[in-house]
Amino acid sequence: MNILLFGPPGAGKGTQSSLLVENKGMAHVSTGDLFRAAIKSETSLGIEAKKYIDAGELVPDSVTVGMVEEELIRLKGKDIILDGFPRTVPQAEALNALLDKYELKIDKAFFLEVPEKLLMKRLTGRRMTADGKNVYHLEFNPPQQEGVCDVTGEPLIQRKDDREEVIATRLKAYEESTSPLKEFYKNQGNLVVVEGVGEPSDVFDRIASELV
Ligand code: AMP
Repeated sequence: MNILLFGPPGAGKGTQSSLLVENKGMAHVSTGDLFRAAIKSETSLGIEAKKYIDAGELVPDSVTVGMVEEELIRLKGKDIILDGFPRTVPQAEALNALLDKYELKIDKAFFLEVPEKLLMKRLTGRRMTADGKNVYHLEFNPPQQEGVCDVTGEPLIQRKDDREEVIATRLKAYEESTSPLKEFYKNQGNLVVVEGVGEPSDVFDRIASELV
C-alpha cells in the first residue's frame, strides 16, 4: 500500500512517517529531508533549493518533481510514504502522471489536521540533531539534558526555517498552495482526514486503523 501525508508545517508528518517506517516497514520519501541532504552535500539542486527553504517558500515544482521521480524508481516494489509531496495542485497532477508511468497507485492521501495556534508552538519549540533524525520539543518532548540528543549525544539545533518570522511565510505558502490538495484528493476519492492533535502514538493509531 502506498500513501501520502500532507498538512500544514508542524502537523506531524515527519513524526508519523517515522512511526510508519518503524511499525509497518514502509519506505519514507520526504522531499524536505531530500532537500536538506542536498543542501548539506552542496549539490547544484541543494544550492538552488536552499534560497527558497531558508525563506520559507516552496521550491519550484520543476526541481521537486524530478527528485521524487528518482525516488519512485529507486524504491519500486516497496510500500511508500510520500511525506510533504505533493504540496501544490500542479505537483499532485505531476505525481499522477508519474504513478501512471510506473504503474503505481496512492491508496490513501492522509491529511493531518491541526489548529494553527498549536502549529506555531510545535514549530518554534522543535529541536533536532543536524541530520534531522532525532527530533525533540522544548516543552512536549524535551531531551534529558538540555540541548543534547538522548540517543547520539550530539548538540541539538533549531532548523533555520523553524524561526518565528520564517514560519509565518511557510504557513502562508501552505494556505495558498497546499490546502487546495484537500479538495483535489477528495475529488479523487482517496482523502482521509485524521485529527493530528494528541500523543503521536494516538495519531499513529488513527492512521494505522485506515491501513487495512
Ligand atoms: P518540510 O521538511 O517538509 O517541512 O519541508 C521544508 C521545506 O522544504 C519547505 O518549507 C519547502 O521550502 C521545501 N519543500 C519540501 N517539500 C516541498 C515540495 N513538495 N514542494 C516545494 N517545496 C518543498
